[in-house]
Amino acid sequence: MTKKVHIRTFGCQMNQADTEIITSLLQDEGYVMTDSEDSADLVILNTCAVRENAVEKIMNTLNNLKGKRRLRSDLLVGVIGCVPQYYREKMFGMSDGIDFLAGPDTYRQLPLLIENAQQGIRGANLAFIPEETYTGIEPVRTGSISAFVPVMRGCNNRCAFCVVPYTRGKERSRPMKSVIDEVEQLEEAGYREITLLGQNVNSYFDDNAGCDFAELLERSSRAAKRARIRFTTSHPKDISESLVRVIAAHDNICNTIHLPVQSGSTRMLGLMNRGHSREEYLEKIAMIRRCIPGVTISTDLIAGFCGETEKDHRETLSLMEEVRFDFSYTFYYSVRPGTYAAKHLPDDVAEKVKKRRLDEIIALQNKISGELYAAQIGNVAAVLAESESKRSREMLMGRTATNRVVVFDREDYKPGDLVSVKIHASTSATLIGRPQ
Ligand code: SF4
Repeated sequence: MTKKVHIRTFGCQMNQADTEIITSLLQDEGYVMTDSEDSADLVILNTCAVRENAVEKIMNTLNNLKGKRRLRSDLLVGVIGCVPQYYREKMFGMSDGIDFLAGPDTYRQLPLLIENAQQGIRGANLAFIPEETYTGIEPVRTGSISAFVPVMRGCNNRCAFCVVPYTRGKERSRPMKSVIDEVEQLEEAGYREITLLGQNVNSYFDDNAGCDFAELLERSSRAAKRARIRFTTSHPKDISESLVRVIAAHDNICNTIHLPVQSGSTRMLGLMNRGHSREEYLEKIAMIRRCIPGVTISTDLIAGFCGETEKDHRETLSLMEEVRFDFSYTFYYSVRPGTYAAKHLPDDVAEKVKKRRLDEIIALQNKISGELYAAQIGNVAAVLAESESKRSREMLMGRTATNRVVVFDREDYKPGDLVSVKIHASTSATLIGRPQ
């Protein structure tokens, strides 16, 4: 009997892209995907370990699934991705509702792990496979407008707060040819937007082809002329002027860069082992803005990292004032066991202080975004319609090339259309307009 599989994906875009690869692998084995947990014979949780509350979410989900297993004893549950890679076989002790575990490098082993679990054999494959990039597996995508294309996996940096190197292993880059083949296929299939993915795409390098990320981006732009090309995530110490000039030279490469800074204090950047100072970051921002007029820049910010003083915090706020990020992902520091910070740095900023500083960062970001978005009123923007707006069925939601969210009157347009929209209102996160 055909087995139905429900995959629940947590965390980052890389996990979403992995789920598309896993779907392909399991469909090749004759499994059928289902959106409903209730009709599934197998539930797979593709997990994220980047913050403590991410792990709590998984444990709560497993507890809920235990209830379902009491009603359906043949229901299988697999936990894959960064949480089992992080906690390893200890996970079996954290919940008795798990039949198998797999890490980000061992998805090719899933059919065997599932087969064993069907015979009551609980198993785990959490090996790091340094050369694994899942090249040759055609992802099964859910959408038809935007597509993620992972170009590399893992990270060789060792930021003191980060678990990624321990869950996704060392960096390895996909062969340039396999990336460009996939980009060409997406263009032929009519995708309007392609996002190249990696934990630190700037350090992409295909040894055999001698191809770095700037060249890969340029080739992708030429291979998919009708599509918008995006990429994420960059590391400030690795972003080069040659890459920025490629963005400036190609209309279909979106003029927006996500450049996580984490803190505005050079002292904190040192403790975080980010490999650059505040000044060096600002020089990169100046270079980017010099090369790409009108570029938008977003970032990641952590409040309350080990040893952070009020002075360090104010330096983060002043950096935000100076750069004026379009938006930022903001968090307060939570200890991740196994990281350098967990082992060697005291988590000495009180939670109350972390939360207050985070609130100040969020309030400042909303003020800046609100001003930047209000300045767009009266302008006309090219918006790629992505879906119906959550606000009203009479409106569509999409984004500009600069990654700004726009909600606009639907008229005769549909998702996938590139629409000229005149902006007549704004909030700190959304532009509102009417087709021109
Ligand atoms: S660059 Fe730093 S923060 Fe980003 S994934 Fe690598 S170790 Fe983590």
